[in-house]
This record gives sequence, C-alpha cells and structure tokens, in this order.
Amino acid sequence: MMLPASLPSLPQALDVSDCAIVITDEERRIVYANTGFERLFGYPLREVLGHRPRDLLLSQPFARDTLSHIEEQLAREGHFTGEALCYHRNGDPIWVSLVGNIHPAPEPGKPNPQGCAVVTLTDLTPTKHHEALQNRVLEAMVQEMCLPQLMALVCEEVERLAPDVIASVLRVDADGRLHALAAPSLPPAPCQVVEGRPIGPCAGSCGTAAYLGEPVVVTDIATDPLWRDYHAPFIAAGIRACWSSPIKNHAAEVVGTFAFYFREARGPSNLHRRLVEICLHLCTLAMARDTAQNRIHQLAYYDTLTQLPNRTLFTDFAQCTLATLRESASPQAALLFIDLDRFKQVNDSQGHAAGDALLCAIADRLRAHLGPDDIAGRLSSDEFVLLLSGASGDQAIAMVQRLFDSIARPFVHEGMQHLPRASIGIALYPEDGADIAALLSHADQAMYAAKKQPSTHWCRFRPELGVLAQERMAMERDLRQAIARQQLHLHFQPQVLAQATHRLHGVEALARWNHPQWGAVSPARFIAVAEEAGLIQALTQWLLDAACAQMARWRAARLPLPQLAINLSARNFHDPQLADQVGAALARHGLQPRDLMLEITESVMMDASAATTANLHALGMQLSLDDFGTGYSSLSHLHRLPISELKLDRSFVRDLQSSRAATALTRSVLSIARSLDMKVVAEGVETREQCEWLQSHDCAVMQGYLFCRPVAAAQLEEWLAAQ
Ligand code: C2E
Ligand code: MG
Ligand code: MG
Repeated sequence: MMLPASLPSLPQALDVSDCAIVITDEERRIVYANTGFERLFGYPLREVLGHRPRDLLLSQPFARDTLSHIEEQLAREGHFTGEALCYHRNGDPIWVSLVGNIHPAPEPGKPNPQGCAVVTLTDLTPTKHHEALQNRVLEAMVQEMCLPQLMALVCEEVERLAPDVIASVLRVDADGRLHALAAPSLPPAPCQVVEGRPIGPCAGSCGTAAYLGEPVVVTDIATDPLWRDYHAPFIAAGIRACWSSPIKNHAAEVVGTFAFYFREARGPSNLHRRLVEICLHLCTLAMARDTAQNRIHQLAYYDTLTQLPNRTLFTDFAQCTLATLRESASPQAALLFIDLDRFKQVNDSQGHAAGDALLCAIADRLRAHLGPDDIAGRLSSDEFVLLLSGASGDQAIAMVQRLFDSIARPFVHEGMQHLPRASIGIALYPEDGADIAALLSHADQAMYAAKKQPSTHWCRFRPELGVLAQERMAMERDLRQAIARQQLHLHFQPQVLAQATHRLHGVEALARWNHPQWGAVSPARFIAVAEEAGLIQALTQWLLDAACAQMARWRAARLPLPQLAINLSARNFHDPQLADQVGAALARHGLQPRDLMLEITESVMMDASAATTANLHALGMQLSLDDFGTGYSSLSHLHRLPISELKLDRSFVRDLQSSRAATALTRSVLSIARSLDMKVVAEGVETREQCEWLQSHDCAVMQGYLFCRPVAAAQLEEWLAAQ
C-alpha cells in the first residue's frame, strides 16, 4: 500500500495520540514513550527511559493488587486489557484503561513472560467515576434504598475509586446540628465526637463548611484552629486532614456535608475534586428524594396543621401499643377523647386563622403531657385523642384534670383573648373495649355525655351511653322530619308588669314538639339536638315565621299585646343571614322590629359575631339576655351587645326565700340593671312571696306559673280576656 507523502512518520503519529504509549524491553524497562505519556503522567521523557512503568505509575501501596493481577495475566496470556488506578508524578490518582501486549506473542498454551511489551494507557478518570458512581447510586435509589444506606454506598464507591480517602456524609438538622448519616470506614470514636454538635464558624471542617455554605479544606487538623476542639479522636484514629463540602438543597440551604478524610497532612487532588463534585450532586439528589418521601409520609399520616398523627396513623400506633400491652404484666391503658367546646364560635367570630392557631396551641398543650409510650392524634377539626399507655382509671382521671388546667390557659390571637374549654370522654382498656376501634367509639360516646355535664366536663364510658347515642340518633332523625313537616307548634307565656295591675308586658313564644311515641319532648332536649345536628337554622326559620304569623293575627284582632319574645340559640348567631332572616319574617307579616324581642343566652354574648349583632341592632331589634346568672359570662361583658332586658334565671327566683346568696345576687342584678338602664324580667315566679319580694325590690316584669303557664294561642286569648 502506498501512503501519501504528507502523512506523519510513525513516531510523530504516536505523539499526536491522546493515549500514553510505552514500549518496554524484556526486563520491562521503558525503551520508548510517546509525548502522551508525559502529558498524562507528568514525567519528562528523558526521565522515564530505563525505568519500569510499575515503579513510576503503580508505586502506591494501594496499587499492589492491581499490579500483580496485570503481571500475572500478561505472563499467562501475552496480553492484558483492563482498568487500573495509576498515579501521576505529583501523586494524583488517575484511572486508566490499560491494554498491554507481549511481542512476540506467546504460542497458545506456552506462557512467555519474555519479549517486549507494548502498553497503551487511556485516561478514564472523568467518565469512569461519573458513570460508575452515578449508576450504582441511582440504581439503589430506584430500589428505594433508605438514605443512610444510600449515603454509605456513595462513601464506599468513592473510597473504591480513591483508596487514599475516607468519606463521610453528615446531615444538618433544622436546629443547625450535625448528625452522622454515613461514614462506613470511619472508626466509631470520631463519629461520636461529631454527633449532635452545632455548626459554627469554628466547628471542624464539616461544621464550618455547613455554617459558611462553602467547602473548607484543612490540610493538617493537628494544627488548624478550626479543629481545636475536635482533633484528638481523629488523630488517634490516624486521620490528619479533612476536606468538607456543604450539600445544599434546591433552595440553596445547607442540608448536610460531604467530607474526605486523609491519613496524611495534605489537600485534595484533581481526582478528589472531580469525585466530590459528582458525590455532592448525588447526595443532593438522594436527600431531596428523602425529604420528598418524608413529606409524602407526613401528608399521608400526619395532620398538616398540628403535625399530630391523623386517624390512620394514630390507629396504627395504638394497635401496636395495645398489642405490646397485652403481653405485659399490667395490661391497662386509657383512651381520652377530647373535644373543644365552642370551637366553631372562634372560627366564625375571630376567623379561620384564629381557629387554626387555637388548634395548634391545644395540640402543643396536649403534647406537653405525653409520656414516652403515650400517643396523641387529631381525628377531625376540634377532636383530639390521647392513648395513655399503662394508665389506670384513677391515673386517667388525674390526667384529665391536668389537661383541663392547661387547655384552659387563656389563648390570645391578635389581641383577642379566648378561654378554651374542652369536654373529655374516657374509655379504659380492657374493660371498656378490647381493641382500638371499640375504645375510640366508646370514648367518643363518653365525650358526648361529658358535653352534657357542665359541672365536670368529663365522663367515663358506661354501656348505657351506647343506648343513649342510639336514642339521640333516632331523635335527630324524627326531629328533622318534624321540622320539615311543620309538626312543631308554639305555646305562649305572658310576661306581666310587676305593678299591682299586672298589665301585660309581652308574651314569650316557646316551641313544643309532641312525638307520636315519646309524647311531649322537652324543648331543652330537642333544641340541643337541633343545635348539634345542624337543624337549628331550619327550626329558627320555622319559629320566626310561626311566631310572626301569630303576632300578626293578634295585631289584626287588636289584642293589646306589646311584644312577642322568641328564643334564639347561640348557633343562630353564627349564621350571617340571621338579621336578613328576621327582617324578612317581620316584613312578610307586616310587623315592626319593636314587635319582637329576641332572647339570647350568655354564651351568645360571649362569642356572637360582631357583624350579626350589629346587623340586628341596625334593624332596630331589641335583645333580651335570657337565663341571666347561670352562664359563665361576667357582668363586664354586658356592654358588648345592645341589650335592653335581663331575664333573671328562675333558679334565683326559686331560692329567694331559702338562700341568702340568691337574695344578694338578685339584689345586685336588679341594681346593676337599673344603673345600665335595663329592665329585669324575673322568670319562674310561682309563689305570692316571690312576687311580693320582687315587687318590693323594684323588679319591673315577672313571668311564671303564678300568672300563667305556657299555653296554646287560643288559651292565651282566653287568659287575656279574663284579665
Ligand atoms: P327559657 O327561654 O328560659 O324559657 C322559660 C322556661 O321556663 C320554659 O321552659 C317555661 O316553660 C319555663 N317556665 C315558665 N314559668 C315557669 C315557672 O314558673 N316555673 C318553672 N319551673 N318553669 C317555668 P320550656 O318551655 O321547657 O323551655 C326550656 C328552654 O328551651 C327555654 O328556656 C329556651 O331556652 C328553650 N326554648 C324553648 N323554645 C325555644 C325556641 O323556640 N327556640 C330556641 N332557640 N329555644 C327555645
Ligand atoms: Mg327564653
Ligand atoms: Mg330563661
């Protein structure tokens, strides 16, 4: 074959190649090296002739195994193809692909270690590490390896590629403290020194790198001031230098550190730098994946607002706890079902941000009481549960008292103070339920009963509660129907002026429900059911219409009836439509605002939405404070709503003759009302004595059986005619 004259000579061509090419004599001493060899390994050509490649490139102790492997194969087969870690003249490791051939080639089956060798070395360093590391780690990630294992894998892989380093990965927690994630080749003593240490400007290589957000190279930890407090156990473990780089998440926040430790005082090589670059990328990826997985777990199993376990996780935990308890010497536990009272009011009147803040505060207060084996959870908006592992009935009750104390601490949100309160149901394991489902259901029923025990606010499960719960459900169902079919009706009770003539002040409308099986159901009961079941709006709509219709009939008949009082429930005041509803009912029946008196309870005064009351006031409605003296409001709240009338609760009137406290309280209510320019209506006046006492103490209006029981409209007309 004829070659063109412009082609380079053979030695020129070999020099152009990026590969290092060497030819050795039979004793493996270099007789030729191209300039690629000088470029790759840093040895000037004149220095290499007569030397053996193994002494130049594979002199490090880590290379001994590689070397014997190559020599064995060359001798046996006359050629070698593989990868090897060689060293640059300056000591930097370089991964090469190595192809060696003996010339002349040995005959098959006849080993010939003699002959010259032609060796070609190609630099693999950049691609090799990248690929090997990345492939292994990504594969492990796909197989859902957990973070510490994954980080250990990164360390091991990188130590394989750079046998002169020990790698470690630390995590930085939210409080800026270091925690070992992986350091498979680091002895335990230095690892322990680092655990839990805060990052800072002078906290070893890792703590400082995490603090500064920049790599920190310490070439001699024995003398470097950054290592002053840390170096002893590291030196004892044979470590002299450390180069640490921060691992940052996508928001550029430091979430960990990746470090190379060296056994001698030195800095990183180019290979080290390339490896760290790759590892940092992998660590970021792995940690981001871990954060995402934790977040998914958190979302699936924890309540996002309070960070307490949700129903699913609580149930899982509780099941495990009960399983452990069953095996234990004293298998007992208590499930507390905690429901906030008046939570909806906070939400409605102060806004959802306030409601959320209150729930978080309550969650924190509950958490503070947990023992190491106890579990808390949030089941729904204002329902929390605690499982007290190992608790007896008495211990559960003692805990309930402590919980009440801490729940009741004032809660302030944007300047508004709220006094939280809760009702708690208790179910004991194993007496009240053998599994968590039974315990939850029974504690819920007990909580429900606790809501009706205003003095204690807690209740332990009793089997009858299950029956009561069923009855309540039946009542709810029938009441819903009765309201829809307009099967409720009204009774009316006169309110008379205290003057001797007992002229009429007004009439109070009271709802009545005759159930086909149960007979007359007390309004105190069915109103409560309506409130809980969300039926109160419909009931009030009916009430407004029925009461206004009756009043309009009496007006048309020219009955001398100054005003009709109707009772509103606290829940009505959370309905932004209330004022419109009242206005529309008045208009429909041609009535004026002064024809109606709205009776509200003290809880309304405490939590009513300001907008609703302002709207009612703007409409010209008058408000009367019902059952005054029984609630928990203080007199100081009286000015918050435009109230024109106080209804002294019948319990005071009942005790007027027997209790000095009742007498004293009644006196002060009368005097306060006078000073605030409000009328007092005394409820439940049954005897002449009560009537006379009230008259002599300037009570303006009285209502009670003494004058007339609540009666149907026709009977009230008869009563009026008889007057
Ligand atoms: P309240 O508004 O304080 O009504 C007065 C209650 O005292 C009525 O009971 C009445 O029958 C009773 N009463 C009147 N005079 C006497 C007396 O001399 N002695 C005694 N011992 N009791 C007397 P009732 O009708 O059972 O109503 C109970 C509560 O149910 C009411 O208390 C009110 O809070 C609520 N309620 C009744 N009707 C309605 C309604 O239409 N809507 C709403 N939201 N609540 C209602
Ligand atoms: Mg009333
Ligand atoms: Mg009352």
